[in-house]
Amino acid sequence: MPQTSVVTGGAGFLGSHLCDRLLADGHRVICVDNLDTGTLENIEHIRNGQFEFVQHDVTEYVDVAGPVDYVFHLASPASPIDYLRLPLHTLKVGSYGTHNALGLAKRHRAKFLLASTSEVYGDPQEHPQSETYWGHVNPIGPRGVYDEAKRYAEALTMAYNRQQGVDTHIVRIFNTYGPRMRPHDGRAIPTFLRQALEGEPLTVFGEGDQTRSFCYVSDLIEGLVRLINAEAHEPVNIGNPGEYTILQLAETVIAVTGSTSEIVYEALPQDDPTVRRPDIGRARELLGWEPTVGLEDGLTMTLATLRPQAATPAS
Ligand code: NAD
Ligand code: UDP
Repeated sequence: MPQTSVVTGGAGFLGSHLCDRLLADGHRVICVDNLDTGTLENIEHIRNGQFEFVQHDVTEYVDVAGPVDYVFHLASPASPIDYLRLPLHTLKVGSYGTHNALGLAKRHRAKFLLASTSEVYGDPQEHPQSETYWGHVNPIGPRGVYDEAKRYAEALTMAYNRQQGVDTHIVRIFNTYGPRMRPHDGRAIPTFLRQALEGEPLTVFGEGDQTRSFCYVSDLIEGLVRLINAEAHEPVNIGNPGEYTILQLAETVIAVTGSTSEIVYEALPQDDPTVRRPDIGRARELLGWEPTVGLEDGLTMTLATLRPQAATPAS
């Protein structure tokens, strides 16, 4: 009897890569997604006997037929332009959606994993960020709808673990990129790659001196699969500690694509974190996990999936 995994948000960027991995590991996979920011294209290649797609909004009661061994809860708008466009929905997904996903795990005695985020650290006053840091979030700023939804989701998950005995796990995901990100999803890497390939200027916000640490998707997925099977219930950072300014990122994208695009500077969005870099000591110790793909290699692999559809770079 194969193990059954439910993946909420399974038609999105990370969720679809997770479905691929679980199917390769021999699981039966049920993907629950309302296609708000995901697409059927992401899961077209796996719509076979072991994979089931259920179009459903997780803010409504969720159940699936038959036994469930794992619930991976990834459903949520994730890009700033999505959660700024969908503020109330983002709060509901983090609260009602996480409640429903935890209820599903409890009913089926399944292991549960919450996809949380480095945004729970807000604009951090501690650098790099370790899991013991409580964060510096503006609850009433525009990003608060996402940050606080995820913080609430973490609190709910710990309560289900402590009070209801559900075998829960929390991953704090740091900026992750790779194939299947939507070219217009607004996040820095897909935006810069699209702009570079179209010969358009790369739009760096602020002076580009804010930092981020970018993890390639295959490394992240390996971390999720290890974590849901670990003993740890406390949050675990998964990310690549290689830290770059956004200007360095734009320059790296230009170099990797061979583009002649220039860089232009635009207004910095409110509450944009000034620095971000994971302390991955806990992931190393508990999971024996390390990222293996550097930024240039990861960008090159992402680019290889974009070139066929993308416009030829200006010469
Ligand atoms: P994504 O937008 O590609 O995927 C999110 C998926 O959730 C989409 O398929 C969307 O349709 C689905 N969804 C949204 N609301 C839903 C609802 N109410 N019911 C059912 N499905 C719903 O984003 P992603 O980058 O793949 O992010 C996946 C998860 O990982 C999110 O929870 C996000 O917060 C978290 N995360 C991602 C990153 C990253 O760098 N990619 C960083 C931190 C956290
Ligand atoms: N960013 C940018 N230009 C863009 C998109 C994003 O300079 O076209 C910046 C953004 O202000 C932030 C960083 O890149 O400082 C990462 O943004 P992203 O949306 O990818 O992730 P997050 O802000 O959630 O870390």
